[in-house]
Amino acid sequence: MGGTFDPIHFGHLIAAELARTRFTLDLVIFVPTGDPPHKRCRPVSPAEHRYAMAVLATADHPLFQVSRLEMDRPGPSFSVDTLEEIRRRLGPTVDLYFITGADAISDMLTWKDPQRLVDFCHWVAVSRPGYSLQDVEAKLGDFYRRHRERFHLLEVPGIAISSTDIRERVRNGQSIRYFVPEAVRLYIQKYALYQDGQISPKVR
Ligand code: NAP
Repeated sequence: MGGTFDPIHFGHLIAAELARTRFTLDLVIFVPTGDPPHKRCRPVSPAEHRYAMAVLATADHPLFQVSRLEMDRPGPSFSVDTLEEIRRRLGPTVDLYFITGADAISDMLTWKDPQRLVDFCHWVAVSRPGYSLQDVEAKLGDFYRRHRERFHLLEVPGIAISSTDIRERVRNGQSIRYFVPEAVRLYIQKYALYQDGQISPKVR
């Protein structure tokens, strides 16, 4: 489960749980991006904060884990390097599914080494109801058609929560109660994350 997770919210958690049951996954590993190469235009909260919130949000699920892999690897976080490392750790026989937002997957041709990305794993595009795999196909074109069996759509019912919206709500002093797990809400409050559009303070 790849994402910036700035912050993690119930939409991510529901998607992870739906994917786990639909594809009978043994484990869902949340991998917060370390240094996202595609997020140069806005400040992203320090990885330690995003990691800590992901740990708090997933602590009560026995089959959810959070990985520091991308945070601890220096340089930009390319998914292909992450998948290579996970494949090396888990061995060649394990089936891997990369779960992330459909919008992100639609941009895959701009990522490093798309061919190896589809060779490594299945791709689970998480989206709102009404979105279809044709929307992914429209952007990926021939590449999608050649690897059709690698792409799956996962509709998350009734959840329009987004990290962008949560950051905006915090900035405007609006409540985010029930948008994120309570421990995450209190963490955001404790470290005064997402105030005034500033990069958030370091974890002490
Ligand atoms: P993003 O642009 O922030 O997100 C695109 C859309 O997908 C947003 O609506 C986002 O909602 C949603 N989304 C993101 N992660 C999700 C998840 N795990 N479950 C459900 N929805 C999700 O994309 P991103 O988070 O930065 O990147 C997603 C993944 O793609 C990360 O693992 C990233 O490293 C990888 N990626 C790799 C490359 C590369 O290798 N060059 C380039 C781009 C992205 P929220 O904002 O609410 O999360």
